[in-house]
Amino acid sequence: MLLLIKLTSLVTTMARKFFVGGNWKCNGTMDDVKKLVKTLNEVEVPSEDVVEVVVSPPFVFLPLVKALLRSDFAIAAQNCWVRKGGAFTGEISAEMLVNLGIPWVILGHSERRSLLGESNDFVADKVGYALSQGLKVIACVGETLEQREAGSTMDVVAAQTKAIAEKITYWTNVVLAYEPVWAIGTGKVATPAQAQEVHVGLREWLNTNVSAEVASSTRIIYGGSVNAANCRELAEQADIDGFLVGGASLKPEFVEIIKSATVKSSV
Ligand code: PEP
Repeated sequence: MLLLIKLTSLVTTMARKFFVGGNWKCNGTMDDVKKLVKTLNEVEVPSEDVVEVVVSPPFVFLPLVKALLRSDFAIAAQNCWVRKGGAFTGEISAEMLVNLGIPWVILGHSERRSLLGESNDFVADKVGYALSQGLKVIACVGETLEQREAGSTMDVVAAQTKAIAEKITYWTNVVLAYEPVWAIGTGKVATPAQAQEVHVGLREWLNTNVSAEVASSTRIIYGGSVNAANCRELAEQADIDGFLVGGASLKPEFVEIIKSATVKSSV
């Protein structure tokens, strides 16, 4: 029986394909984007069986990137509206992304939570709606430095995850991104042990509150100052299933981060 449980857990762990997302944020010109895509198109990376790569350009460059990007990499928008489109000036609806052939969307990024006041419930509503329209979602959670220092990291990320869990019925198209706010864009990366601890906590939360199957199959990726120098050590952690990369996704070192997926086959 124990052997069976161990084998099942091994199989489901193996089924969590490494995921590397590149969040380009609000950066770049048409020329920059063309150069970046050209670089990505020319690099040799592990096969699609080993790693799933998704890049996330600003909205206005989505069609350009879609037209130029290699077919083994996918594209994510950086946000979408919370419900069906209409009289919502300045917003982009999930339906529009689907219509454009964009399969992924990042929701709940801490920059939107903090700068634009997106609450847990609002983010959760967006996740629910985006999934209902057929998009796949990179859902971000993470604590501030103050919350970490107060010892409430797990409470914060559990509350963010709970809000999402209450709005969705299936997790197949969700990648959960643990992104400590204090590590985003600061050059201060979480240690592998700090990241692994929260990833395990999130998996346990899913196990207790959603299901064992969702807990073992959902990819939980880490984001926060990941670069070529620290990615391998982070990737070695059993519950880190990939990365969401900001700054370094605009640089050639992004390729090294994609290649860190191979660490999983040797651990
Ligand atoms: C992000 O924006 O999701 C992110 C992780 O940024 P950075 O890698 O620059 O910290």
